[in-house]
Amino acid sequence: MRRGRGRDFGSLWVWRDKCVRDRLGWYYSVATNSMPAKYLICKRVAVNPSIDGMDMDGLLKEYNAALEQFLMLWSSVKSGSIMIKDIPIAETNLLDLLTSIVKRYLRACNFCRWQCRIDRLAGGKLGACRLEAESRVSTFFHHQGEEIVFRGSKGSGTIFFTSCNMRCAFCQNGDISTDRFNGSIVTPYMIALMAYKLRLEGCHNINWVGGEPTIHLHNIVEAIHEMSRFTVKKVSDFEGELFMIRSINADMPYEYAKSINNAFYADEFNVPQLWNSNFFMSKEALNILRCLMDVWLPDLKFGSNRCSLRLARTPWYWETVTNNIKQIHNWNEDMVIRHLIMPGHVECCTKPVLEWVADNMPEALINIMDQYRPENYCDPYSPNYDPAYKDMAKYPSRQEIDEAYRYAKDLNLNFEIITFEKYLR
Ligand code: SF4
Repeated sequence: MRRGRGRDFGSLWVWRDKCVRDRLGWYYSVATNSMPAKYLICKRVAVNPSIDGMDMDGLLKEYNAALEQFLMLWSSVKSGSIMIKDIPIAETNLLDLLTSIVKRYLRACNFCRWQCRIDRLAGGKLGACRLEAESRVSTFFHHQGEEIVFRGSKGSGTIFFTSCNMRCAFCQNGDISTDRFNGSIVTPYMIALMAYKLRLEGCHNINWVGGEPTIHLHNIVEAIHEMSRFTVKKVSDFEGELFMIRSINADMPYEYAKSINNAFYADEFNVPQLWNSNFFMSKEALNILRCLMDVWLPDLKFGSNRCSLRLARTPWYWETVTNNIKQIHNWNEDMVIRHLIMPGHVECCTKPVLEWVADNMPEALINIMDQYRPENYCDPYSPNYDPAYKDMAKYPSRQEIDEAYRYAKDLNLNFEIITFEKYLR
């Protein structure tokens, strides 16, 4: 039986699983437009109108107060005791504040753990991500290869940003992550138009990915701010503007039918925000994203800094990524953790990762992926091939994959429904 095709997202078989429904309850409600995305709640949190004149300390103080308001309001919205339509949109609101803070951060970039502190607006000196202030998008499209909870029946609305702050030798998106000039330069407004198009065409979420989305934080926050202004009344205005993003849309020339029924909460544009990331971000970036992301998809790749240094030239990996995932868990956010089984790395990476999940968040949903293929510097048929990664130039064996699954089962992890759904179709 083929499941997940041609069906309404809300009635997909996977939502009948109580555990999946409980862990992803907020995301499900926003995806089905029965709740507003967090960014629509942010619009109702008033902040001091003079944020433009504040220094960083002032902005962060304002943020801490606004965050408290946001969390109270979110809790009331979730419980159904408040409807956002009954709360006026604040003239200067939390979205304005978040936009101001990330623009200020960009002047001494602290978006990720590298903490390069370079001025990306001034240009010239580059950090580990090799980016200045502009963002490039390689493609955007209805992604039918993500987990069923994200691809649903009409796809995950995926926007692929260029470049990365890690250097995974085996990167499965190497063309995007290693070539910072891949794709087209985009403005926040163009990014918001991509989200608009994808959602009206039925996508269940906006999937921020790359490369790595964290290094584009300023433009993504501003894009979310832009999309928060889209209303039913203005929908026809956008149609004529879609030519600006047409060449980046990998769905073309196929055109999906658009419907406002897919995309609005009352008369405001509504779509869940999905952060699909290596999670090597800074605490500061995570705090900004807390008010904007409805669901999280962290990648927990390496079980030790020894492996992250050798295979991704990334120090401080383990403590950074596990602390960030722990924080999301402590905040009680909706999340699916991803782990890719790598050849020769079951003992040093897969097992410590699974043990950490079992010790820290045994109920978390986890996707243990078996689709590793030798790519990028590990692909012997690529001109980029580096023989230093000869040990990674192969697929994980059946034995390794079975051992990973056996270990996860022994730890009683919550992985089977998300990991094996493709075999259930
Ligand atoms: S995003 Fe990360 S790697 Fe890039 S400049 Fe900022 S701190 Fe450095």
